[in-house]
Formats: sequence, C-alpha cells, structure tokens
Amino acid sequence: MPKIRTSRTKRPPEGFEEIEDSLAEFTKKMRDAENETHEGKRKAEALWPIMRLNHARSRYVYELFYKRKAISRKLYDWLLKEKYADAGLIAFWKKNGYEKLCCVSCVQTKGRNYEGSTCKCRVPRAQLKSNESVQCQHCGCQGCSSSD
Ligand SMILES: [Zn+2]
Ligand SMILES: [Zn+2]
Repeated sequence: MPKIRTSRTKRPPEGFEEIEDSLAEFTKKMRDAENETHEGKRKAEALWPIMRLNHARSRYVYELFYKRKAISRKLYDWLLKEKYADAGLIAFWKKNGYEKLCCVSCVQTKGRNYEGSTCKCRVPRAQLKSNESVQCQHCGCQGCSSSD
C-alpha cells in the first residue's frame, strides 16, 4: 500500500519522521476495522472499533504534546490540521472532568430523545448500581468518568 502523500500536501514539520510509524500503525488498524465484515452487528456497533482507534490515536498525539512534550507546537498543529487527531475531542480532554472522555457524541445532548442528560458512560461508577451496564451506544465506551 503506497503512502498517501499527494503533491498538494506540504512536507510535514520537523519531528514527524519519529512518530510516523506509530501513526501509520493506527491508520492501518483503522483501515482494517473499516474493511471488517459488519454482518450480524448493529450499525453503531460496527463503528465502535473505528471510534476506539480514533480515540487512541488522538490520545497518542495529545500525550506527545501535552504530557510528554515530545513534539513541537508546529507539528502538533499540523497533526490536527491533517486530522491525525480529533481536535474536538482534545479540547474536551483539557477541561476539568473530561480528561478521559471517550467521544464527543457522548456529551452532546442535542438530538437526543432524553433531553439534558449525558451518556451513561459519563456517570461515575460510584453512582451506579452494582452490575449496571454503562456501555454507551455511541462508541461502546464502558465508562470514562474522570473520577473512575
Ligand atoms: Zn464514554
Ligand atoms: Zn463515547
């Protein structure tokens, strides 16, 4: 599989070569997940592995910049622009109480039939009845409250 790098794509900023392989690994896994047969699965469920990978890749970029300080601002901005990470999701991770948010859909209350409530996976385990399932319908998250 040739690398997708069209002529219109500018050369990535310095430091990209060092993380290129890890990013390519995520891309490969996402492609595999997309190609997987969805037979017997509900539509939303078929998307879960892809959303999980999107989450993991965004997390990787986020930690490189904010936690490990291993990449430059320039490279970080470039990665967001090139969609190597989900800027919307990262914006949440920087907020108090959303450090582990699984996906943006889980806190979007618009378009829900139950008004004003966030996804079950956002409820701290301490507030749940034992063995109550928190798996959400959006991404299959099994709990991403910051206090867990
Ligand atoms: Zn969640
Ligand atoms: Zn979610």
